[in-house]
Amino acid sequence: MYRKTLVFVIPLLLIATGCGSGGIGGTSGISLDQEWQLGQQLAAQVEQQSQLVRDPQAVAYIRMVGERIHAVTPLADRPFDFEIINDPTVNAFSIPGGHVYINSGLIAQADKVDELAAVMAHEISHVVARHALKQVEQQQEIAAIGSILLGQSPGALSQIVAQILAGGAMARFSRADEKQADDMGLDFMTRAGYDPHGMLEFFQKLLAMDQGGNSSVSRFFRDHPGTQDRINDISSRINAMGRTSGIVDDPDYQVIRRRLM
Ligand SMILES: [Zn+2]
Repeated sequence: MYRKTLVFVIPLLLIATGCGSGGIGGTSGISLDQEWQLGQQLAAQVEQQSQLVRDPQAVAYIRMVGERIHAVTPLADRPFDFEIINDPTVNAFSIPGGHVYINSGLIAQADKVDELAAVMAHEISHVVARHALKQVEQQQEIAAIGSILLGQSPGALSQIVAQILAGGAMARFSRADEKQADDMGLDFMTRAGYDPHGMLEFFQKLLAMDQGGNSSVSRFFRDHPGTQDRINDISSRINAMGRTSGIVDDPDYQVIRRRLM
């Protein structure tokens, strides 16, 4: 029944928006149901094009952290998924439909669970604010998204994912979107019970690594521009919160971290 509805909705959508060049702007023509369907197809491609960590204990742990944060968001009733990618570089990304990926190399550098929670809250925020969808819309005309949803463009699907994984233009958000994801992420992680200082500390650490010439973090900075400005913003936002408590670390996190290193 769901499929049938979609078949009828998409032609209407194409008529309503015209087949213009993707410039949908802030108000997306893609519904949340459609975004979640697109996300499932993209996630299947990510799984084919990258190596997911299958360690059940490690995956269960990051899902627990992700779900704690997801539960306080306005999209708590939509399913999210959290996966670890076996990759030594420091990076994380999200795709439409609530799929969040954390590299094992990022977990290795996140010394405390509040640092991991910060990155996860930031990526969850990209989905909640629909930045992840906006990226796809900037890359693909709405007609192309329609045919992807109908299963008619397997090539376009793998191309989108290849660009995200390669960290091309697709994987970059604007500074405004990054700031919004930081702001929302700080709020979500704090409400989920984590210490917001984790975000500040993790970004400071990555900036220091980058300045020290550590190439494993260069990818993170390509995808997350303007880090010193962002650190200043995060710092003043935490000060304005007037709250410093929350989970900083967890022995269980250290167990899974050692397993991944
Ligand atoms: Zn980001």
